Amino acid sequence: MTTPITVAYGDGIGPEIMEATLHILREAAADITVETIEVGERVYNMGATSGILPSAWDTLRRNKVFLKAPITTPQGKGYKSLNVTMRKTLGLYANIRPTKSYHPLVKTNHPKMDLIIVRENEEDLYAGIEHRQSEDVFQCLKLITHSGSERIIRYAFDYAVANNRKKVTCMSKDNIMKLADGQFHKLFDEIGKEYPKLEKDHYIIDIGAARIASKPEVFDVIVTLNLYGDIISDIAAEVSGSVGLAGSSNIGEGFAMFEAIHGSAPDIAGKNMANPSGILQSAIMMLIHIGQPDVASKIQNAWLRTLEDGVHTGDIYRKEVSKEKVGTKEFAEAVVQRLGKKPSTFDSVAYGKAITTEMKKNTVRTPAKKELIGVDVFVAWNGSINELGEKITALSADGLDLKTLSNKGLKVWPDADTSGMHITDQFHCRFKCADGKTTTHAAITALLDRTQKSGLDFTKTENLYTFDGVIGFSLGQGE
Ligand code: NAD
Repeated sequence: MTTPITVAYGDGIGPEIMEATLHILREAAADITVETIEVGERVYNMGATSGILPSAWDTLRRNKVFLKAPITTPQGKGYKSLNVTMRKTLGLYANIRPTKSYHPLVKTNHPKMDLIIVRENEEDLYAGIEHRQSEDVFQCLKLITHSGSERIIRYAFDYAVANNRKKVTCMSKDNIMKLADGQFHKLFDEIGKEYPKLEKDHYIIDIGAARIASKPEVFDVIVTLNLYGDIISDIAAEVSGSVGLAGSSNIGEGFAMFEAIHGSAPDIAGKNMANPSGILQSAIMMLIHIGQPDVASKIQNAWLRTLEDGVHTGDIYRKEVSKEKVGTKEFAEAVVQRLGKKPSTFDSVAYGKAITTEMKKNTVRTPAKKELIGVDVFVAWNGSINELGEKITALSADGLDLKTLSNKGLKVWPDADTSGMHITDQFHCRFKCADGKTTTHAAITALLDRTQKSGLDFTKTENLYTFDGVIGFSLGQGE
């Protein structure tokens, strides 16, 4: 049965590269029906601040698969990123960015590089929850969920199996963020046991990023959190030397969006100069996703053959390796002419099945026993630490006793030498019950009431819980 897909021609070079790509898809007998929507500049200019009209959502929701050309994002305030809106509205939790070397055609120091980054796409600092809490302190919340982590880690392992990959590497910063990143690494180790044939390893993100820059060929599939994934996918694309040839996918439970990594290139729009390879690569990912891996392989092999035959658009044309400089349309035609042929220098491909139908579901977990054992009250304060300590100690009651004051995560009271520290104007006051005891929300609101009456400016609170007896909060340094 034919698969309906939504297509947006986008702005700038979008219409040219999309037309070229759809021509190749048609000639390769991709079994798709195309329905177009308009997104981007014209829609922004009509006053839709997200660059998309309500009617387009109906089409997207009906077809569930979206092939999107790049759009021009208008400058100025009030405009929202269409991509962020898409990711959040359609629940596109996995961002897949393959990066491969096309040596010797594209110059790179890493001719054997061929890695896939599976980036969590919805959580982390990108939840966009930010607050200014005092004159000096700004906060951006990093939210990581167990369910979101499990889903992306499973996606990476299932992807590796379906695409005959050998190794999955996890990158995190769990030496510092022991709870948020720690659970991501722990889940990776646990879920990895279900995939005994795959190699697994873990890198702390800083050395991992450095290693991608120096030895990218040691990596195969990498799974990581949103911000790290954002950064390392650009590092990977940069060292491969081929940003313009890369496609990407954004996958959710019910929806998927495919697009090139580059933008709308207004400088060459309408000149039949643009390279359609980035969007073609994303269309190939789309064909695998909708269960047409044979068509995807046929197109990829023809594309590789076109590149190695030296038929190149201007952006990748180099006298030493190219034979013919062509425009967008002619490049697409050259790919069409090679459908059914295989590359001889590059390895030919034979893609596996899409993973969406076969993905393992998240484990059903028994909820842990959650107990409230205290509260952190954050207080804006510019005066002496001892004075604050005394004021706050006086607020202890109902079994909630002040244990420590911390500043930027470091204990500063009692019994702390703060002489070398740069102290800011917000303190984090930890009230806890005696060992083995629990408290209540009523005791916490009473504590806040006393705090307010004492004239202190509390800026936020965080409850202190244990889960099956294991503490669910970090200890301050020196606590
Ligand atoms: P860009 O990627 O559009 O262009 C950067 C340079 O690369 C330009 O010189 C351009 O000519 C060249 N280039 C890009 N794609 C090419 C191709 N397929 N073939 C040949 N040359 C190509 O980046 P930019 O100039 O920073 O951004 C232009 C517009 O695109 C901006 O409005 C930006 O917001 C938007 N943009 C959109 C997306 C998207 O829709 N996903 C992504 C990135 C940028």
